[in-house]
Amino acid sequence: MIVKFWGVRGSIPTPLTQSQLKSRIAAAVARIRPPDLESADSREAFLAKLPPYIFGTVGGNTTCLSVHAPNSPLLIIDAGSGIRELAAMVNQQTKKIRAFHIFFTHFHWDHLQGLPFFSPAGYTKSNTLYFYSPKRNLEEIIRGQMVPPYFPVDLDAMAAQKRYIRLQEPTARLGEVEIRWKNMRHPGGSVAYKMSHNGRSMIFSTDTELSPEDFKRTPENKRFFENADLLILDSQYTLGEAIEKYDWGHTSYSMAVDFAAEWNIRTLVLFHHEPLYNDRKIYGMLNSAEWYRERLGKKQFRVLLAIEGMELDI
Ligand SMILES: [Zn+2]
Ligand SMILES: [Zn+2]
Repeated sequence: MIVKFWGVRGSIPTPLTQSQLKSRIAAAVARIRPPDLESADSREAFLAKLPPYIFGTVGGNTTCLSVHAPNSPLLIIDAGSGIRELAAMVNQQTKKIRAFHIFFTHFHWDHLQGLPFFSPAGYTKSNTLYFYSPKRNLEEIIRGQMVPPYFPVDLDAMAAQKRYIRLQEPTARLGEVEIRWKNMRHPGGSVAYKMSHNGRSMIFSTDTELSPEDFKRTPENKRFFENADLLILDSQYTLGEAIEKYDWGHTSYSMAVDFAAEWNIRTLVLFHHEPLYNDRKIYGMLNSAEWYRERLGKKQFRVLLAIEGMELDI
């Protein structure tokens, strides 16, 4: 099962600014020594040694993931601005994908704003968009996000066939992938998804403010969280902010580490990066999360940052 990150930023798209770009170039130039410039190889080696927050970025698009397993359709979670990049990939494929299964965690703008730009796939009549959520009024919600004067055309302009599937049963199956869902704490609610294939599983829980309830070893929690291979979890805040912003609906990276340790997760991915934070700060949070995990004495799992374009094979 391949999980790909198309958008990892929380709350609002966050492009790299001109001043950030300039300071990165200045930081890179300041590190160059004459031998680094001698040949194409030495230049490559120099660039490869730069810290990721100088020669890279976690990305500025809002939430969108794809999950692809053998003998199964392409699954998409959320339609933040990252879905535009996914649409471009789909358009380049020689073997055209015709069915798009989009699961929504919730409908805050950063998780929906890319849908009108799911082009040309969403505007192709022979394609079908399947929308999934436990919400009763799913069609109304999807239609409501795309109306003039907020957007020049309404949802009917997206010529693909549309199906609205309300998740009622605890599990669903598409191809060989089993999908479970669970309500999480967030203003207005959000849904975590667990997708399992061939004995491997990934959980996606963004826009989640973990509470003591989530740590309780209830049969429901155990079934959903325990021993997952991959947990992609909201880690927008530092611990201080999580206290300050109690009830805002997000989790701190340190609580994310506690949670992964509690449920014996194999890989934790920090997700929904704060738009106020630059790459250096976000990589700093990864370092702090790793330090904290070691301090807990938990070496059985690894911690990664969600980075736009990253693929994980689980
Ligand atoms: Zn969000
Ligand atoms: Zn939200």
